Formats: sequence, structure tokens, C-alpha cells
Amino acid sequence: MECLFCKIVDGSIPSKKVFETENVLAFEDIDPQAPFHVIVIPKTHIASAAEINRQNSAVMSEIFEVIAKIAEENQLQDGFRVVNNCGVDGGQTVEHIHFHLMGRRRFGWPAG
Ligand code: 5GP
Ligand code: ZN
Repeated sequence: MECLFCKIVDGSIPSKKVFETENVLAFEDIDPQAPFHVIVIPKTHIASAAEINRQNSAVMSEIFEVIAKIAEENQLQDGFRVVNNCGVDGGQTVEHIHFHLMGRRRFGWPAG
């Protein structure tokens, strides 16, 4: 299996786990862009946000439940940024859908 995040799920590549459910894994980003930066993924392989459909979308709501739980457990009550990069134009570098959960700093908009 060639997918980096599938290898993190199966443990063949180590990660610093932050939270886990039966279907969702959250781990620290290796190159954090904020004082708090975790990656939240479905354990099953979905390539990108462009691949979400009626058959596989249930895990997306679970991901956002996990995001709220992580935020609560990590004192992100002042807010946080959730980012999904999709495809080449979106700047996606790992082709397993993932959500960046970042906090403990103020973010600009757009970008930044
Ligand atoms: P993307 O650019 O696809 O939205 O995000 C990929 C993210 O995965 C980047 O923020 C990058 O730092 C992170 N990343 C890449 N390789 C690894 C790794 O081996 N371990 C961890 N924990 N994060 C990684
Ligand atoms: Zn994968």
C-alpha cells in the first residue's frame, strides 16, 4: 500500500496520536503551521474531498465530531482553523483526505 496516511493508520509509519475512534484518527502534523496543528483523517482511504459521495460521507460528520472533541480537550475555546486542501490547485500533497486543525494563534482571511 503506497498511501502515507494509510501507513500511519496501520502503524507502519509512526505518528504522535492525539485522538482516535473506530473510524477516525488524529495525529500531530510533522511540520506544524501553528502552535497546535493536528491532521484528522478517516481510517479508510478516500483520496480527496472530490471523492466524497453518499456512500462514504458518514465518516465526514464523525471527523467534525472529533474536531470539536479535540478542540474542547486542548483549550481551543477561543477558536481554531479547519483546512482541507483538495487537488493540485488546492495545494493537496498527500492523497488521502485530511483536515488540518490548527489553533493557539490568530489566523488571517483569506489565507494566512
Ligand atoms: P496537505 O498539504 O496535503 O494539505 O497536507 C499534508 C500535511 O501532512 C502537511 O501539513 C505535512 O506537514 C503533513 N505530513 C506529511 N508527511 C507527514 C508524516 O510523515 N507525518 C506527519 N505526522 N505529517 C506529515
Ligand atoms: Zn490512504
